[in-house]
Amino acid sequence: MRTLITGGGGFIGSHLCERFLAEGHDVICVDNFITGSLANLDPFRDNSRFTFIGHDISNPLKIKGPIDNILHFASPASPVDYLNYPIQTLKVGSLGTHVTLGIAKEKGARYLMASTSEVYGDPLVHPQQEDYWGNVNPIGTRGCYDEAKRFSEAIVMAYHRYHNVNTHIIRIFNTYGERMRLDDGRVLPNFMGQALRGEPLTIYGDGKQTRSFCYVSDLVEGIFRLLFTDFHEPVNLGNPAEITILEFAEEIRKLSGSSSSAVVFKPLPQDDPKLRQPDITRARKLLGWEPKVGRDEGLKRTMDYFKKKLGK
Ligand code: UDP
Repeated sequence: MRTLITGGGGFIGSHLCERFLAEGHDVICVDNFITGSLANLDPFRDNSRFTFIGHDISNPLKIKGPIDNILHFASPASPVDYLNYPIQTLKVGSLGTHVTLGIAKEKGARYLMASTSEVYGDPLVHPQQEDYWGNVNPIGTRGCYDEAKRFSEAIVMAYHRYHNVNTHIIRIFNTYGERMRLDDGRVLPNFMGQALRGEPLTIYGDGKQTRSFCYVSDLVEGIFRLLFTDFHEPVNLGNPAEITILEFAEEIRKLSGSSSSAVVFKPLPQDDPKLRQPDITRARKLLGWEPKVGRDEGLKRTMDYFKKKLGK
C-alpha cells in the first residue's frame, strides 16, 4: 500500500509515518515545516519505502502512481502556533483539505482527516460526545483553527456524500509524547521545560480548567483502526482521564524531581475551554479501542525525551 501523510514532519504526523512504515506501507510525507521539523523524520528518513516532499499542501500537488490512503494532518495545532500563523491555519484546513480530498477522489484512496476537540469550542456539554455541535467563537483568537477544522469536517462529508470518497474524521483531544516541540506553547512542553530548568510553572487563569491527556501511541492505534472501517462520521480519540491544570502542574513538578519550581499565575487566554473530556463510547464500540498508556508511564517517557533535548 502507498500512504500519503500531510504534516508528516509534525508531532503526530511523524509517529504516523513511523507506524505505517512498520506496517509495510510505502509512505509519502508532505510538509512545509512551518511547525514540523526535519529532525522528526530522522528515525526513518533512510527507509527505502519513505519519500519526503517539501510542499505547502494548501497549494495543488500532483502525485504520480496509485495512492491507497491519505491522512491529512498538516496544520499548526497548538494555540500559540495558530495565533502566530492564523492565515496558514485557515488555508490548510480549507484549501489543504480540498487539495487532499481531490487526490483521494482521483486515486480512489481511503481518506482520514485530523479534526479536533476544538470543534466543541468552550463546551456546554460534558464530557463531549460526537453529536454535540459545539460552542465556538468564530472571531476569537482560536477561531482560525476551530472554524478551519469545522469547515474541513463539512467538506470531507460533502466529498463522501457527493463523490462517495471513503472518508473518516477523527476529533483529537489533547495528545502528548515524544517529538512535541519544547517551544510549541502547549501546557505540557511548557511545564516540562520550566520544571527541568528550575523555573516556575506558568498557570493560566486559576488552573481549575480541565484537560484529558492521551499518549501518542494510543492515538496512532485508534487512527490506524478507524482508517480501515466503513464508518464516516466523526470519532473522538483521546484519553478520558481528566485532570485540572493545577493538578497537572503538580504531577509534572514531582516527576521532574524539581523542588524549587513553584507556580506563577498568568492571565487566561481568550476563549480557553473550561472543561474538556472525550466521551469515547463510539471508538470503544466501533474500534474496540481505548487508551492503554496512563499518564504515569506516558509522562515519564515524554520527560525523558525532553531531558535529552535539554541535555539534562
Ligand atoms: N496552560 C497553562 N500554562 C501554560 C500553557 C497552557 O496553564 O503554560 C493552560 C491553557 O490555558 C489551557 C490548558 O493549559 O487551559 C491547555 O492548554 P494547551 O495550550 O496545551 O492546549 P488547549 O487544550 O487549550 O488547546
